[in-house]
Parts: sequence; structure tokens; C-alpha cells
Amino acid sequence: MSYLREVIAKTEEKNPSQPEFIQAVEEVMLSLESTVDRHPEYVAAGIYDRIVEPDRQVIFRVPWVDDSGKVQVNRGFRVQFNNAIGPYKGGLRFHPSVNLGIIKFLGFEQVFKNSLTTLPMGGGKGGSDFDPKGKSNSEVMRFCQAFMRELFRHIGPETDVPAGDIGVGGREIGYLYGYYKLIRNEHTGVLTGKGLDYGGSLIRPEATGYGAVYFAAEMLATRNESLAGKTAAISGSGNVAQYSNEKVIQMGGKNISFSDSSGTIIDPEGINLEKLEYVMDLKNNRRDRIKEYAEKYPESRYYEGKSVWEVIKEQSIKVDIAFPSATQNEINEDQALALVKNGCFCVSEGANMPTTPKGVEVFLDHDVLYGPGKAANAGGVSVSGLEMSQNSMKLLWEKEEVDNRLQIIMKNIHAECQGAAEAYGFKRCNYICGSNIAGFLKVARAMLAYGVI
Ligand code: NDP
Repeated sequence: MSYLREVIAKTEEKNPSQPEFIQAVEEVMLSLESTVDRHPEYVAAGIYDRIVEPDRQVIFRVPWVDDSGKVQVNRGFRVQFNNAIGPYKGGLRFHPSVNLGIIKFLGFEQVFKNSLTTLPMGGGKGGSDFDPKGKSNSEVMRFCQAFMRELFRHIGPETDVPAGDIGVGGREIGYLYGYYKLIRNEHTGVLTGKGLDYGGSLIRPEATGYGAVYFAAEMLATRNESLAGKTAAISGSGNVAQYSNEKVIQMGGKNISFSDSSGTIIDPEGINLEKLEYVMDLKNNRRDRIKEYAEKYPESRYYEGKSVWEVIKEQSIKVDIAFPSATQNEINEDQALALVKNGCFCVSEGANMPTTPKGVEVFLDHDVLYGPGKAANAGGVSVSGLEMSQNSMKLLWEKEEVDNRLQIIMKNIHAECQGAAEAYGFKRCNYICGSNIAGFLKVARAMLAYGVI
């Protein structure tokens, strides 16, 4: 058994019932094989064994009172995975599916993603099994306050800087940050994704979606292609999906789909800016289901209980580019095959680990331009890093400045992936090996410098 296979086996043994975490570790480790031969010093220093073990994992009780006066108890998590290159940084996810294994997979991915951005940020992730869906604003506020009542003691602007993720948007960040400010009696950049009036950055809400489209544009350019005239399929209908749609339009393409956990809409005419505005109001203000889109726009069709990828498979819908932007493991092998069969030649992952390992194999076997989440969706955390810089300097950059920096970062990440892939014996377009190797090397060098800690 190879050394890295042993690392995977040990991780599996130590972390039973955490399939998403093991999946993430396996995917990274298997693409690092060539670094083992090239860097025996990393083996000697136990870097690979140490990098799969979080620095610390905090699990806490979150009691809160619902609108009927009943006490509810949720579970809160913060996994501080690795701070070799900077303070822990990574979002908070509020979703009923959240458990320790999911937070660990996200934290592990974040270590490599943050390293790729070239900004000084370590990796962490947190969240709760709280479901904001169907809750009143007051309930969400009371939950966020209860969550922060414990989290505050583990975070700080130089220690750990959380942000949003699924179920944690502008509203939740406002409640979380407000409570942190109150109990700490200080106004610091301890969360990112803040509102503009209290320390946020322009372009942060747009950053992940815009970044995923910029990354797709970079991949397309390697084949002398662009987004102009292309048909895209986007899954999800939250923050990442919405701004991916906006950027696809700005770059001359059209998106035909959105989804939520209840079902999928397909609009063959494309979701233009006016329709996107409707979706933003539906999802961000009214907090309703995507099904309503099909009632408002009869040219579209709603598929109850189906994902975008299942609908594309069943209906043989032609698409050029896919932007999975909902959740992990949303594209399986059959759906990946169906995408390829229907003409899809580029996949840029807005979500984290949205494609199963078999699905990824399909994309690589068919020469699809495949941008894995840790590279393609790194725009969000990059602009979070820029928000931290602005907070430290106590100033606000113009929209154009942040957007330009975001574009440069996405270009650099793309080039770094290509360079690392080539340097370690893979095809330049193997972004999965490229992103893992490039992300790993910087963290490994820092860990080596510190000695065994
Ligand atoms: P949002 O909460 O804004 O939106 C999530 C969307 O995905 C919703 O439409 C939601 O539907 C859908 N969804 C969530 N879980 C499931 C599920 N299990 N099955 C089907 N649909 C689901 O989250 P974001 O847009 O912020 O995040 C989307 C993805 O992007 C996640 O993988 C996240 O980790 C990743 N990401 C986000 C970043 C950010 O800056 N926000 C940064 C980098 C990555 P419903 O409302 O019905 O739950």
C-alpha cells in the first residue's frame, strides 16, 4: 500500500461515519502521490499525517426559544483545521444536514482553497443543524445570538474569521456580528460578508458566483472559447447561483436553470436580468420556493423533487457549461455522463465537492474542462480576505477595484493550477491535481518551517 493510501486508511479508521470527510481526504491525497517522491522531507516530518487532523474541533449546545415560547436545542460546530499560513478562515453553514463530518470536509477543503488564493488565510469551517427555512426573522435572530454566545470565545480577527455559507447570508451575518460586537464590546473584522454600512466589502455578495464564471472563462480560453453564445445550467438558487447567473449574462451567455431542495425549473429562453431580479426577491426577501418561478414565467417548466442534473439527463437538454452551485455530491456518475452526452464540455464548481468521485472520473475521461470547487469557487473567500484587509486599513475600496482584484486572483489561481499540474507530471488542464498540489505545497512548507507542533 502506498504511503498516502495508508494515510487515507488511518483517517478512515479514526473517523468512522464521516463519508464526506473521507471523500475529501481521499481526493486530495490521491492527487499528491507525486509530491511524496519529490519531497521526502514532508514524509519525514509527518506533514501528510498531520494535515488530515484538524487543529481543534469545537461542538457546542445552542439553546434558543421559538416564537411559541418553546425551547429548541441545536448543535453548533467550529472546526479550526489548519492555521499554518494565516488565521482560520471559512464559512458557517446552517442546514439540517450539518454534522461533524460535513464541517470537517468543508474545513479540509478550505485549507487548500485558501492557500490557492495567495492570501494569508488558514482553513476552518463551522455551522449548525439549525434550519432557517420557515423560521421567522425573530427566531433566526435568537438562534444566531445563541450561536454566537458560545462561538465568540473561539474566534477573533487574528484567530479565526468566519463568513457565510449555505443558510448564512447577509441577514444571519448581521445578527451574528451584532451580537459579537455587543458581548466583546469591539468593532473588528471578525466576520466577513458584513453589510456595507458596518465594515463589509463591495462585491463580497457577488464574489463566489462571479469568481466561478471568471474561472470558467479562463478554462474556456485555453481552447479559444468564451462564454459568448453558450448555454449554461446552474443549480441552486441562493447566493452563488444568483451571481453566477448575473455574470454569465454579462459575459454573453445564458443560463436556463435554477433549483432548490424542492425541485428544478428549466427556462429554455434563459433567465435574463429581469427574471433574475424576480428570483432574488423570491429567495432573498420572500424566502419562497423556486416552483413559483414557473407560475410567474409560463415559458419555463418545474420538475418537482428533481435536481437540475437529473432533469438534464431525463429530458436530454443541451448545455455547454455546468455551474453546480447547490451542495455536495449533487452530480453522480450517470448525471455526469448525461451532461457529456448533451454537449457539456466545461464544469465550474460554485459549490463545494458537488461532483461524486465517479462523476469527476467521467469528466476527466471525456476531456471536460473541469474546475473543482476549491479552485473555481475560491473567489468568495478571496474577497473575504480583501474585506479583512479593508477592515485593517479602515477603508472601503471602490467596486471596480475589488472586482479587478477578484479577476486577477481567479486568473492567478487558474495559472497556479496549470503550473503545478505540469510541474508534477499531469496535463496542464488537470485542475484537480493542479489545485490540490499548489494548495498543499504552500501549507506544507509553512508546517515544515514550524517544526513538529
Ligand atoms: P445558499 O444558502 O444561498 O443557497 C443554497 C442553494 O442550494 C439553495 O437554493 C438551496 O435550496 C440549495 N440546496 C442546499 N442544500 C441542498 C440540498 N441538500 N439539496 C438540494 N438543494 C440544496 O448557499 P450558497 O449559495 O452560499 O452556497 C451554495 C454552495 O456554494 C455550497 O456548496 C457552499 O458551500 C458553496 N460556497 C459558497 C460560498 C459563499 O460565498 N456563499 C463560497 C464558496 C462555496 P433550499 O433553499 O431549498 O435549501
